[in-house]
Amino acid sequence: MFSTILSAAVLGIDAYPVQVEADICDGLPQFSMVGDLAAEVKEAADRVRTALRNNGIAFPAKKVTVNLSPAHIRKEGTRFDLPVAVALLTALGIIPREHTEEILMVGEIGLNGLVRPVSGVLQSVMLAKERGYTACLVPAANVREAASVPGILVIGIQNLQELLECLVSEGIPERYIRKEEFLPEQDVEYQEDFRDVNGQEGVRRAAEIVAAGMHNFLMIGSPGAGKTMIARRIPTILPRLTVEESLEISRVYSACGLLVGEGLAKIRPFRAPHHTISANALAGGGRKILPGEISLATHGVLFLDELPEFSRSALEVLRQPMEEGQVTISRANGKYVFPAHFVLISAMNPCPCGYYPDRDKCRCLPGEISRYLHRVSWPLLDRIDICTETPRVDYQGLTRKGENESSAQIRERVEAARKIQKRRYQGQHWQFNSRIPVSAIPEFCVLGSSEMRIMEAAFERMNLSARAYYRIIRVARTIADLEGEERIRDIHLLEALGYRSVDQNFWDR
Ligand SMILES: [Zn+2]
Repeated sequence: MFSTILSAAVLGIDAYPVQVEADICDGLPQFSMVGDLAAEVKEAADRVRTALRNNGIAFPAKKVTVNLSPAHIRKEGTRFDLPVAVALLTALGIIPREHTEEILMVGEIGLNGLVRPVSGVLQSVMLAKERGYTACLVPAANVREAASVPGILVIGIQNLQELLECLVSEGIPERYIRKEEFLPEQDVEYQEDFRDVNGQEGVRRAAEIVAAGMHNFLMIGSPGAGKTMIARRIPTILPRLTVEESLEISRVYSACGLLVGEGLAKIRPFRAPHHTISANALAGGGRKILPGEISLATHGVLFLDELPEFSRSALEVLRQPMEEGQVTISRANGKYVFPAHFVLISAMNPCPCGYYPDRDKCRCLPGEISRYLHRVSWPLLDRIDICTETPRVDYQGLTRKGENESSAQIRERVEAARKIQKRRYQGQHWQFNSRIPVSAIPEFCVLGSSEMRIMEAAFERMNLSARAYYRIIRVARTIADLEGEERIRDIHLLEALGYRSVDQNFWDR
């Protein structure tokens, strides 16, 4: 008897259709699995046979062949256990063939018959929807994630017995069917709020500009100045997630197995990898190609605390994704492209001890300070638009009475500035001021003659690189947008120059 079941492989963050075929015939008893399979896929043979036996289904002493096609797609993980089991049960005549048609299945099966969650369910269900299948059969733990895709029936099961209940007799029992549940935009509140940040007016202002134009940001300050506290609150002032953004974030999380038990992403990511992270873990890759931290931060914040402590190779891999909004990983079997539309928020101490330029407290030698600062390379600094000092908050600032502005209030202004950018860049391949290509700057960032003079003087005095020069203009564009002004004025430029002069103070070329 021959049978075939629909399933899906996930490579990177994309799902591809896979047919699981089973053939059982007379001959020497053996069980073979073919079709470019990773070791753990082949082990499905043992897991499934044992699970069936433990659930009272005797396996016949016959020749069994399971083929996963197409052969050119690499199959990895334990997600094929469930379709392999169903293909065998159908080939054995236990499940009627017509009950499995048009249903995509993924899931891992334990030796006792429990069905366990797998990664990549969201994109598998999206694929089933695109292909016009009627239903998806998934582990119960993946049901919330699967049900995020509207317009397709989702069946969630916990074990082999429930599988049989669903597929052996006519009609699937109501209790296994998850009704459509699509929760796109919701007013989900973050746990953090800018209301909790006392003092730090300058840094709050900088954070608002960062959020409004998606500008990369560096905070330099002593330990305890609240750099991490501010970084954690930046997602809360970014605009609310759109459905498209939520889907893109969720696909990345699902591929990494981080969406189990969850629905679609409702808040913007905040990723804060430790400085010991490898370049691979940051950019993505590994034996099984998975997105890295920069993709897990997509449409949100990538926070690198203690920036000089990161390895050079780790910081190097950031450069290309920061420019392109995506990361490309090339391997012998193909190219993987993952989204990386993050804003980089970074923080560091001004010197190894943390107290420079306070000479009363700082005991670092000039050479030590210079070596410490220069662990952050110029090419990376050149990609940071806004640099501020975060002073320690004095006692008065800490105990200040009266209400601080909340994240919701700041977000309102950020959203208004984003609306202006959206209108202005309609039909262009970029959306934010920080991403305006150099060639388009004369069109979108017109400077009058007095503004030109300011920039000319600054260019000379501050010894700016061309890259830094354009970054200042992009920041000034955002400052003007926050004020609802179409023209960039000198005050906007002067403020933007201030955000570059900080790093000029610390680093000399
Ligand atoms: Zn020091």
